[in-house]
Amino acid sequence: MKTLTRSVMMLVICSTLAGCGPNAQERELQRFITTHEEQVKPIMKEANLASWKASNTGKAEDYDRVSELTLQLRHVYSNTDEFAFLKQMRESGQVKQALLARQLEVLYNAYLENQIEPEMLKKIVDLSTKIEKDFSTFRGTIEGEKVTDNQIKQILKTETDSTKRKEAWLASKQVGAAVADDLIRLVKLRNQAAQKLGFDNFHTLSLTTGEQDVKELDRIFGELYELTKEPFAKLKADLDRILADNCGVAVNELMPWHYHDPFFQETPMVYELDLDANYESKDIKELATRFYAGIGLPVSAILRRSDLYEREGKNPHAFCTDIDREGDVRILCNLKNNEYWMETILHELGHAVYDRYHDLEVPFLLRRPVHAFTTEAIAMFFGRLSRNPVWMQQMLDLSDQQRAEIEEASAKYAQLKQLIFARWAMVMYEFEKQLYANPDRDLNSLWWDTVEKYQLVNRPPHREQPDWAAKIHFTIAPCYYHNYMLGELLASQLHHHLVYDVLKLESDENVSYVRQAKAGKFLAKKVFEPGAVYHWNEMIERATGELLTPKYFVQQFVE
Ligand SMILES: [Zn+2]
Repeated sequence: MKTLTRSVMMLVICSTLAGCGPNAQERELQRFITTHEEQVKPIMKEANLASWKASNTGKAEDYDRVSELTLQLRHVYSNTDEFAFLKQMRESGQVKQALLARQLEVLYNAYLENQIEPEMLKKIVDLSTKIEKDFSTFRGTIEGEKVTDNQIKQILKTETDSTKRKEAWLASKQVGAAVADDLIRLVKLRNQAAQKLGFDNFHTLSLTTGEQDVKELDRIFGELYELTKEPFAKLKADLDRILADNCGVAVNELMPWHYHDPFFQETPMVYELDLDANYESKDIKELATRFYAGIGLPVSAILRRSDLYEREGKNPHAFCTDIDREGDVRILCNLKNNEYWMETILHELGHAVYDRYHDLEVPFLLRRPVHAFTTEAIAMFFGRLSRNPVWMQQMLDLSDQQRAEIEEASAKYAQLKQLIFARWAMVMYEFEKQLYANPDRDLNSLWWDTVEKYQLVNRPPHREQPDWAAKIHFTIAPCYYHNYMLGELLASQLHHHLVYDVLKLESDENVSYVRQAKAGKFLAKKVFEPGAVYHWNEMIERATGELLTPKYFVQQFVE
């Protein structure tokens, strides 16, 4: 872990062989970076520690400290003179040393996204905070009675009376009508801010600062659309028959409220699969520890610093944090011995090993996952194992009979889950792109056109409501949703490469990765150690021999 990776070494050697020691601009940039690191390192560390503390105590004063430090960091990156300096460096074309050029790129993007003028930024933050608050306080109504999100979910999961389902679904959409006007104003404000920085709209600005571009994403999503078109239609037809049967309606009468959540983004639980019994008598922390040790990525040091069990006031969810980019990596969980938390601890430890096994010789600014979706991919790659029948058999000592039973149900379930999510992610990507391109168009029809095209869900007759606005992600995590899908695609691409090229197996039928140290070593070398030394697509190409492609996701879950 402390040795210079070969990839980094190559960059150093090449730049020396070329006979070009650092030029004046490169030396100047290096000085800037050194000062910058000294400035941000302590704030980042303190902010991460404060956030860790706040999540563990739930105290308002601890959260205030987090906001304060976040603001301090934002202040650093909003400096206009420094941004101008980086812009000029970039345009000079004189920064040729690969590692320096990468740091320049990363810095430039970090400054770019913080160049929105303070007044404009305040308007944006205030409005999005207002909408977020409206979301958290709004309650839909059924026959005049207020209902909670959980009550709505419960009805959509179990009710067989179509009228009652419809009422619950309508209640879930009322928040959309309540926030839509504000949300359109917010989109326009974000666009104005982006246009001042020279971008077409906020969507293109966001993609650019995340080192992504519309053309590349269009290509990936377009390919995924084509490859999943027929299999999704077939799978959905089976599902529709079951759903229609359950509610005593004809298949062609199915409406959005016949699916089991307000957006048809989750798998309706119509096929039996209950894996919890397999985990009840086990210690999932011990299973995770043993598994990661077996693939040569030990996690004991991470777990010692982590906070794993429920406690009053503690954040009820789960996350991973890299406190200092020097090895202090922690996860927060609320473990119970069931399948959900097995998946979650494997997932969070996936993030954690990525952070923990960066090469410490890589410059600080590049010592992090190259993209949010690449670390999500690693987390998903490991999280998927909690339902993998081979993994379960080996880790939980199941009989062949038990394994066969799980196999049948879980394959079907995994396929449904992935296909339903993929088609839903296409709706989100496509709609959000159009939303920012022209917020004045008829968004309500655009939404249903998009839903019909990708999810094959009928639009309710004469529906003219902003149903799209009921999705909170447009407000709180703009232009980000597509990354969840890219994460799934990369997880499958890595899986394919590991099975056929690293472990050199004939098929992935018996693959569990249990005690496969070769797999862990490959991920550490090719993905974790280089951090952000290469653009994400270059990292993927260097690791797997191909740019990011949806074909292995399709191979794993569709064919
Ligand atoms: Zn995650």
